[in-house]
Amino acid sequence: MADRLTLQDPREQYPKPPFPKQPQPVPGLAAKMDPEPDHGETSYKGAGKLTGRKALVTGGDSGIGRAAAIAYAREGADVAISYLPSEEKDAAEVIALIEAEGRKALALPGDITDEAWCRALVEKTVSDLGGLDILVINAGRQQYREAIDEVSTEDFDRTMKTNLYAMHWIAQAAVPHLPAGASVITTASIQAYDPSAILLDYATTKAGIVAYTKALAKQLIEKGVRANVVAPGPFWTALQSSGGQPQEAVSKFGEQSDFGRPGQPVEIAPVYVLLASQEGSYLTGEVYGVTGGSGDA
Ligand code: NAD
Ligand code: MG
Repeated sequence: MADRLTLQDPREQYPKPPFPKQPQPVPGLAAKMDPEPDHGETSYKGAGKLTGRKALVTGGDSGIGRAAAIAYAREGADVAISYLPSEEKDAAEVIALIEAEGRKALALPGDITDEAWCRALVEKTVSDLGGLDILVINAGRQQYREAIDEVSTEDFDRTMKTNLYAMHWIAQAAVPHLPAGASVITTASIQAYDPSAILLDYATTKAGIVAYTKALAKQLIEKGVRANVVAPGPFWTALQSSGGQPQEAVSKFGEQSDFGRPGQPVEIAPVYVLLASQEGSYLTGEVYGVTGGSGDA
């Protein structure tokens, strides 16, 4: 693979559909994906933009969160990652990559639909890393349902708890620890603006994440803390193949984008770095779309 800094046609830079069907039980593992996603393991080059920072990334085991966690460590930050216990294999790889940079890594397995755990994971991060100045609220649940009558109360509840309640619990626990200059980043989706019929509950939470983060940004700037949203389009992650989309859609994933392919997680990592770093000093309450050309957000 060519170096990510080499001039090249971005349409040809990464794999295109069709992809093999590859169902996995939720939450899925990046290690089982075909082709394997690029989270920056060998491709992301750091430049000291986050030297000495202390970051917490929820869903940092795989996908977009993993790409952010790797980039943060390469930029010089200590990084805590939260994930589900069944994702230990993916998480162990990320922990090893953070430590390989000579940075401190903290593994936080647990279920964020539990309020007490959300509060505990923030406190563990603060005590283990000695503070917190980058908070990435990124973990998410996406399970497609073809019609409204198939969205059970249990589904609806679990999507709300994972994507909205956990965001609130984690942000609430973190805010008292955030110093001036700190940054909060949430992961919404193009689904907040252009919802798919089969993602009723998920799209609703993603619109909620945008509103919550913009409101929070107005509160936090009073402390010199910034808050922004990243709104991705199609990214090649286990979220999609573990029930986020029907398998036929996984095979064609990213075909509709102007690139004719999905984004790879490493391709969104620089946005998480910019928003976290002091280079983003005038950025707050913004929504960064990285959609593959759809222009939303
Ligand atoms: P991913 O599956 O790799 O990451 C999601 C992570 O959420 C999982 O790894 C898991 O650790 C965590 N998670 C889910 N439920 C949890 C729970 N109950 N307790 C603890 N952790 C839990 O997939 P991804 O695509 O990288 O997803 C990251 C974020 O990006 C999500 O918020 C998702 O909605 C958003 N997003 C993804 C896409 C895409 O196309 N992949 C597009 C738009 C938005
Ligand atoms: Mg995962």
